[in-house]
Amino acid sequence: MNDLSFDIAVIGGGASGLMAALAAHGTNPALRIGVLEKLPRVGKKLMATGNGRCNLTNVNASPADYHGDVAFMESAMRRFPPLAVLERFKAFGVYPLVEDSGRVYPMSGQASSVLDALRLSLAEAGVEEICECEAVSLEPGPFWRIRAKDGRTICARRVILAAGGMTAPSLGGGASGYRLLEALGHRVTPRLPALVQLKTDPVAVRALKGIKYDGQIDILVDNRLMRSETGEVLFTEYGLSGPPVLQLSRIAAAALSRRNKPVVTARLHILPFKGDDIRGMLAARRSQLSARSLENFLTGLVNKRLGQTLVKLACPLPLTAASSALTDAHLAALSALLAGWELEITGTQGFEQAQVTAGGVRTGDFDPDTMESRRAPGLYVTGELYDIDGDCGGFNLQWAWASGLAAGEAAAKALKN
Ligand SMILES: Cc1cc2nc3c(=O)[nH]c(=O)nc-3n(C[C@H](O)[C@H](O)[C@H](O)COP(=O)(O)OP(=O)(O)OC[C@H]3O[C@@H](n4cnc5c(N)ncnc54)[C@H](O)[C@@H]3O)c2cc1C
Repeated sequence: MNDLSFDIAVIGGGASGLMAALAAHGTNPALRIGVLEKLPRVGKKLMATGNGRCNLTNVNASPADYHGDVAFMESAMRRFPPLAVLERFKAFGVYPLVEDSGRVYPMSGQASSVLDALRLSLAEAGVEEICECEAVSLEPGPFWRIRAKDGRTICARRVILAAGGMTAPSLGGGASGYRLLEALGHRVTPRLPALVQLKTDPVAVRALKGIKYDGQIDILVDNRLMRSETGEVLFTEYGLSGPPVLQLSRIAAAALSRRNKPVVTARLHILPFKGDDIRGMLAARRSQLSARSLENFLTGLVNKRLGQTLVKLACPLPLTAASSALTDAHLAALSALLAGWELEITGTQGFEQAQVTAGGVRTGDFDPDTMESRRAPGLYVTGELYDIDGDCGGFNLQWAWASGLAAGEAAAKALKN
């Protein structure tokens, strides 16, 4: 088995690691740089991003789009803001398409083309990819010694740890990066799945599986409104999904992990009107469609199956009854549900389904300009490993690129002297 030696070893061939390797080469092309990747190939997660289209950044990114230690990001994000990311990707051969929302995708519409462009640029730079090489321990020194699971030892003058977060284990997610950092004395905050689907009582939603409504959804903790989002909400067999649900999931996950166990509720605005307006609309419907069975009382106004479920919840009448049997109290209950159906959130899906990890290594032990560890000089950390996570919309990759660039440039500069 060959042992390997590099000027810079990057642990993790994901978004931030590949960017770090390219930035290091760009800063000092004479360096020998290797990317160690535990999977049989680099960039597996990148291929899955943006539903296979890769939402590679967002031109409107601001601190409000991030959670955790947002102040730590400032220097790296200023150095490599979204517009600079676009220019860099153009230089790699990826032409960006900017949507009205600010989300940026490759013109090709293929996440694979983002990975191809990064890998081609790495090959042109002479950066070595060593796959099926999982780092299991790190020993500091003028020459760091990285032990791989298969017994290999890799030596490097500088190490960039870009092992990513806990999400999507089949795409490389796991705890190994945190373990390596904890072994060096770094502290890691509790980690939770974020940008993930929400669970409710399955009985409440099972009949609605596959139905969507386009509108507002709120998240409440102990009856306090925390945040609202709009977009397509999807009912699933376990609860709720869709972009606005993912966006709200971080708040739900954090609240549900609290010791005092607050009540977390999703409020679904099925119709975009106030309760009183809906009540008037329903009263008119009751007179116009009085002979129609309750089964079809809401047909044409909302999805038919969703309408039947809400009618059953609001009034204790058989669905075969005529609409004329609805009392004013029934209409009030039904309009309240259509204006804001409240479902208790019982949990979130796990890291397998999540897009990002909330929580991670504490940033206080790192230099925000260089990403270098103060506890273990010579070690740089990037991307999702930090206690930083972004909303859905290209923000997490933006942080991966920015932190990767900062670490790669700093590690290479440190070897210039
Ligand atoms: C399904 C899905 C879709 C997403 N879509 C988007 C999107 O469109 N836009 C967006 O901004 N964000 C998106 N994200 C989030 C984004 O992909 C991540 O935040 C980002 O990839 C993190 O970059 P990273 O370099 O820190 O980690 P990763 O990209 O996860 O890379 C870490 C790499 O390190 C390797 N590794 C781990 N441990 C070791 C070890 N011990 N030794 C060697 N190698 C190791 C892993 O195999 C992996 O290849 C998505 C996430 C998922 C799961």
